[in-house]
Amino acid sequence: MKLFQILLLTTFLFWSNNDCKARWGFFGHQRINRIAVFTLPIEMLPFYKKNIQYITENAVNPDRRRYAVKNEAPRHYIDLDVYGDSAVYEMPRYWNEAVELYTEDTLQAYGIVPWHIVSVKNWLTKAFENRDLDAILRLSADLGHYIGDANVPLHTTENYNGQLTGQYGIHGFWESRLPELFFDEYDLFTGGAEYVGNVQIRAWDAVTTAHLALDSVLTFEKELSQQRSEDKKYSFEERGATVQQVYSREYSRAYHTMLDGMVERQMKASIKMIGDLWYTAWVDGGQPDLSLLMDRDLTDDEKAQLEKEIEEWKTRKYKSREHESGSL
Ligand SMILES: [Zn+2]
Repeated sequence: MKLFQILLLTTFLFWSNNDCKARWGFFGHQRINRIAVFTLPIEMLPFYKKNIQYITENAVNPDRRRYAVKNEAPRHYIDLDVYGDSAVYEMPRYWNEAVELYTEDTLQAYGIVPWHIVSVKNWLTKAFENRDLDAILRLSADLGHYIGDANVPLHTTENYNGQLTGQYGIHGFWESRLPELFFDEYDLFTGGAEYVGNVQIRAWDAVTTAHLALDSVLTFEKELSQQRSEDKKYSFEERGATVQQVYSREYSRAYHTMLDGMVERQMKASIKMIGDLWYTAWVDGGQPDLSLLMDRDLTDDEKAQLEKEIEEWKTRKYKSREHESGSL
């Protein structure tokens, strides 16, 4: 147990020193998963509350796996623009139809997030059916992550870090720097979780809303950057033991104002959708009595598996997209 705690602590230190530019990542994903717990109905709430630390801390597991598991990366995004201008409306919603039209290789090459959400939701349903504590927790945390990603406009484009439009660094700016600076101003209250009849269509609705916001994400930053000199755009801030170049507070505030609540809206949409799909998986899994799972802790094997994932992430076996290791 002690070793596990030390490992977790080391991981936090490692992250805070090396990875704090991280995306929805560290900060956003964790807040989103955590808040989603409070949307749940009374049959689920005590169980999720008891495990809220796990659900929060493991909200970034899928990003860690991007470096350890070969097919992980495409699960986090979909480059809709490579399929043409109106792909967001015309792309086949269901996996089999999409494979038929484009082949699986192509889909994997440009990202599969809307379909992967459905897979994880179905695995979670199975976990509820089986009363499998480890799987329920792991898949709940994972599902929250992929839903969070699907709601980020820059996860729906080939130009995911502004690299095609001279806006390198915008990924972390939108989904990490802005929430870190303005989180306290967000109102993230959503109503209670609701049952979702068609998870696949709901996943596509999220991706569509995110994609339709993309033009503003890029255009507003471009306008702003034309109005400001480089030295106004960036500043330096201490992060742990290092000093990093960041988008300046003034520049961030101006972008935040132009976006008119977009980051907050997308964060809120993520929270609502996560609560909805956790609830839907529980209903579809036969509404098991979660109070029976309340007194079991993770086994040593389960803890060891988690530690292994953390180690693999640190060694970064597979290369992922550039913004994961960029300087902003
Ligand atoms: Zn991700």
